[in-house]
Amino acid sequence: MEFEEGDRVKVEKNGVAYEGIAMPSTTGHIIVKMISGYNAGIDQEGATVTIVQKKQDMEVITKPAGKAEAKSISGLPKVSILSTGGTIASKIDYRTGAVTAQFSADDILQAIPEMTEIANFSGKAIYNILSENMKADYWQELARAVVEEIENGADGIIVAHGTDTMMYSAAALSFMVQTPVPIVFVGSQRSADRPSSDNAMNVICAAKVAVSDIAEVTVVMHSDGSDDRCAIHRGTKVRKMHTSRRDAFRSINSEPIGYVDYEKLKVSTSMEYVKRGDRPLELRDKLDSKCALVKFTPGSSPDILSYFIDADYSGLVIEGTGLGHVSTDWVPEIERATKKGIVVVVTSQCLNGRVCDRVYDTGRDIIKAGAIEGENMLPELALVKLMWALGNSDGHDAVAAMMGEDIAGEITERSLA
Ligand code: GLU
Repeated sequence: MEFEEGDRVKVEKNGVAYEGIAMPSTTGHIIVKMISGYNAGIDQEGATVTIVQKKQDMEVITKPAGKAEAKSISGLPKVSILSTGGTIASKIDYRTGAVTAQFSADDILQAIPEMTEIANFSGKAIYNILSENMKADYWQELARAVVEEIENGADGIIVAHGTDTMMYSAAALSFMVQTPVPIVFVGSQRSADRPSSDNAMNVICAAKVAVSDIAEVTVVMHSDGSDDRCAIHRGTKVRKMHTSRRDAFRSINSEPIGYVDYEKLKVSTSMEYVKRGDRPLELRDKLDSKCALVKFTPGSSPDILSYFIDADYSGLVIEGTGLGHVSTDWVPEIERATKKGIVVVVTSQCLNGRVCDRVYDTGRDIIKAGAIEGENMLPELALVKLMWALGNSDGHDAVAAMMGEDIAGEITERSLA
């Protein structure tokens, strides 16, 4: 009988036997999730497969590993894992082979027992959503949950998050929480059932950063195509730059704060950062979410702006071309927006580099129309910051001043390069 995904199988090859659950495979290899929790990929050539149990005959969902009790070891730091969902928080239903989003600290410790040597963990599932379903209200709830954990004595926080919008949530928390301890976002590009999963390595590296002295909001993900190290990105300088690669996250307009060497489990840093305990805990969770990010494209109609102006938006971020430009016929609508009190910030679709609207006429016209230059802030970051600045200061000028100020490492110094 042919085996199917989800069946318990025994694969024998060259005198070695691998027993476990047959997993989906795209490579032609037989992938077996063994009782240890690890996957074995076995070339079909010369292998014999016996079905130990059909998936429909399994009454209980088989877990990948023996339960690692969340035992408390004295002297180790306390880390809270807050989960919001995404691939990182998904696990396999070993009966059906389906990936479902479920999470608890126990689930993580059970799958990655090495974690218990780094810290004492506790966990809470705040959400169980794919990150494209995040919204400003959820960022606020997450910020409050993080602050509560820190108030209750957490020495570090890990936020497990879907990768698609992780940069928005990391940006939001960078502004909303002034933190005395590390707040580390982590995700995974490939789910735990895949042999190339980045899940365990990213979480272990995140745990090392959570117990380090980097008291900032960071994103910790695979740094390269290999399994050597994870990069520690500042939460205000990071962007997902690839749909599927494990090293999809990059620091833009900045180097990463540092790296975690996966083999030595060592954190190294190469720039200034806020140290553990340097700043008192503060929650500044007000946001005005009536803001939009608008991308200018050649020939696009200024009517796009009219919609937001007439719908009484509070702020607009424009993703302009090059140094921060839009076509001449967008300028009157920008002026109408700013005259109405809407804060308009110009960023660049180049992503790398700084906006400078004083070089060409179209740029100068935008400034005359009342728009603010977004320095070297990423467009999405500028959007989140604008929501936060509007929520935390009154009046156009105060918001404009806040947008030009470096609050959480988002505006970096001019470099000669
Ligand atoms: N699109 C989903 C999300 O961002 C799943 C992908 C992922 O976690 O990386 O939550």
